[in-house]
Amino acid sequence: MNDLKFTTAGDYIDHLKIMNDLIKPLVDEKDPFLREVPHRFNFDSPHEDPDKLEKRLIDNMFHYNGIGLSANQIGIPTKVFAMISDGDPMAVFNPEIVEWSDEEIYEKEGCLSFPYLFMPVKRSETIGVKFQLKDGTEQFGSFGGLLSVIFQHEMEHMDGELFINSVSDFKLKSAMKKRKILKRKRERKQRNG
Ligand SMILES: [Zn+2]
Repeated sequence: MNDLKFTTAGDYIDHLKIMNDLIKPLVDEKDPFLREVPHRFNFDSPHEDPDKLEKRLIDNMFHYNGIGLSANQIGIPTKVFAMISDGDPMAVFNPEIVEWSDEEIYEKEGCLSFPYLFMPVKRSETIGVKFQLKDGTEQFGSFGGLLSVIFQHEMEHMDGELFINSVSDFKLKSAMKKRKILKRKRERKQRNG
């Protein structure tokens, strides 16, 4: 922050505006946009500077208290998502899963596109992945546990899929019932301070 210098109040306000412009509203859960397959991020003619896009995704992920966020969830139709990692949060460009372990993991998941909805989804415990960093270099690696779950969840967004389609109707119905109760409780709590 020390290298930021504002000579006038107007400069400072412009700076704040740029910062705020990074935060975008979440696309509504019913919007068909979330069901469309986003296009690959094109490093040769990017629609947005990859550096800025990474920052935007990470800022939005933290703003909405998520541990993963796909670009299409904030209205950007490209195959890029942000996720927490062991160290710094990162943006994953043009990801692919190339290997799935037979061992499964069954963890409760939520999605920023579906507030208050939580349900366990069966996933591979470990996955082998391939993706690009913001400078276009290719990365290969593997993820296990929570990071594997996040990667697989965000990968669904990259295909225009949603976690509500990864469970049985019965499980979805019961999670929806719980969601209503949870929503009412949280709203009552907020009203009462
Ligand atoms: Zn999601």
